[in-house]
Amino acid sequence: MLNKWEGIVLRSIPYGETHKIVTLFTKEAGKLTAMARGAKKPASRLAAITQTFTHGSFLIRTGRGMGTLDQGEQIDSMRHIREDLEATAYASYIVELIDRLTEDNKQGHGLYGLLYDALHAINEQYDPEAISLFVEWKMLPVAGIHPILHQCANCGAAEGEFAFSFKEIGFLCHRCFHMDRYLVRLSPTQLKLIRTFYTVPISSIGNLTLKMTTKQFMKKIVRTIYDEQVGLRLKSRSFLDQLESTPELLPKKEKPVVEGD
Ligand SMILES: [Zn+2]
Repeated sequence: MLNKWEGIVLRSIPYGETHKIVTLFTKEAGKLTAMARGAKKPASRLAAITQTFTHGSFLIRTGRGMGTLDQGEQIDSMRHIREDLEATAYASYIVELIDRLTEDNKQGHGLYGLLYDALHAINEQYDPEAISLFVEWKMLPVAGIHPILHQCANCGAAEGEFAFSFKEIGFLCHRCFHMDRYLVRLSPTQLKLIRTFYTVPISSIGNLTLKMTTKQFMKKIVRTIYDEQVGLRLKSRSFLDQLESTPELLPKKEKPVVEGD
């Protein structure tokens, strides 16, 4: 059967002398893997559209076993992601996270929309670090973690002062602070931001500019959850960590500034 599907290339690995095995996340069929014959040859029509991050329309022949990518048409090459080191690093982290937490041939929980929004936002030069944070928070349920963020995880109260508890994986109100001795106290702004990161779609955020300390705080919480509960080791994360600890590698650039926190 020949299918025309819209998708984004998550991964592309060489196979034999001339072929590539491409992992796509498609809008219609979720994640899938297909053989792109000849795609390793620079002159191949498939060479450009099988590059990681490419957003395109793909003709895929399915049947028994692995599908075959017959043709593709580029919708967006994601040029900025390819050319900017920081954008590449965060986009790589996002595609690896989504790739690792999903399986082939399963309709994915509106995940195509998340991937699409995140990569396009980075490509349009939104802060890639903030965008990757949105993705990390939003991928928690896909990783099987359902943090309780709309009320106190213990007593259900919606009013009061709140803290984040790694033990409860969610908020605790001041009446329940005794439940966890290692909780992280939250300001009302931090509480609101955590909810925003978890629930608001990237496409409706607008250009949010976050302070470095805010991003570090949000990252610390979400990554602790991944480290303790999911135990995922991502190759792209060690590169990101190196990049973040070596800011002189990144050229100074003006970022569009809108709203602070
Ligand atoms: Zn409570």
